[in-house]
Amino acid sequence: AQASARPIATNEQKLELLKKVECFIFDCDGVIWLGDKVIEGVPETLDMLRGMGKKVFFVTNNSTKSRAGYMSKFQSLGLNVKAEEIYSSSYAAAAYLESINFNKKVYVIGETGILEELDLKGIRHVGGPGDADKKVTLKSGEFMEHDHDVGAVVVGFDRYVNYYKIQYATLCIRENPGCMFIATNRDAVTHLTDAQEWAGNGSMVGAIVGSTKREPIVVGKPSDFMLKNISASLGLRPDQIAMVGDRLDTDIMFGKNGGLATALVLSGVTTPEVLNSPDNKVHPDFVLNSLPDLLSVKEK
Ligand code: PLP
Ligand code: CA
Repeated sequence: AQASARPIATNEQKLELLKKVECFIFDCDGVIWLGDKVIEGVPETLDMLRGMGKKVFFVTNNSTKSRAGYMSKFQSLGLNVKAEEIYSSSYAAAAYLESINFNKKVYVIGETGILEELDLKGIRHVGGPGDADKKVTLKSGEFMEHDHDVGAVVVGFDRYVNYYKIQYATLCIRENPGCMFIATNRDAVTHLTDAQEWAGNGSMVGAIVGSTKREPIVVGKPSDFMLKNISASLGLRPDQIAMVGDRLDTDIMFGKNGGLATALVLSGVTTPEVLNSPDNKVHPDFVLNSLPDLLSVKEK
């Protein structure tokens, strides 16, 4: 091993983690599940943590589902989770707009998760999946109308993104300097299937950055909006909370920004080579092969 290598946590380190932490915030994909399969041993690990009186919380940057959508997913994987233990970037977008008393309309690039969360907060919206089949002709003289009551564009992962949606969002932002530009997350790539990495929401956000020259407000990981919103509801000090994730630039950054204890699991996108590379500047406090590593902890 290289001198800089971060070894897998020892029994003592795992005991330390379990002792000092009152609440575990888990990233979902790569920690709890991989795509639509639960990671073996995770249900038992969550039961063990709950049995020890720990709070658990689940955070995902994937905005395609609402919290209710994730409830169904947890249930279908045999995991017992309460609605208030889930925090998705789709919910973060709606919670952010509510926190600033937003009362205009939102133009959405994204899937149903964002629309469902906006509906629950009574926030009006246009766009979303309904614009999937819209086209521009680019024939001479073509002019695109847009709704002048749009006060924010929210960009989330959208498998049906098209030129119409990009132009609509661009018009809203460029023609109304007061229009906000909100990104649910900026993940560069995402693990949609085991076969390869797929372009993530960073690509949809990048399209709008490119046409507007504006930078978005990010509400998902690693933003401090999400962390403040979560920790306010927990009533714990940052050092009593641990962030457990598989990505250095979102999960571990998110935990470090907030002063939380951080644990990286190697069951997702980060390989030991990336973690231990001299180019990596983000170092977690603990490294686990996967979350169920905690099951084997022994009291001395
Ligand atoms: N965004 C999309 C579209 C995804 O498919 C995924 C993972 O599957 C993510 C983001 C990252 O999700 P998480 O924050 O749970 O790792
Ligand atoms: Ca993840």
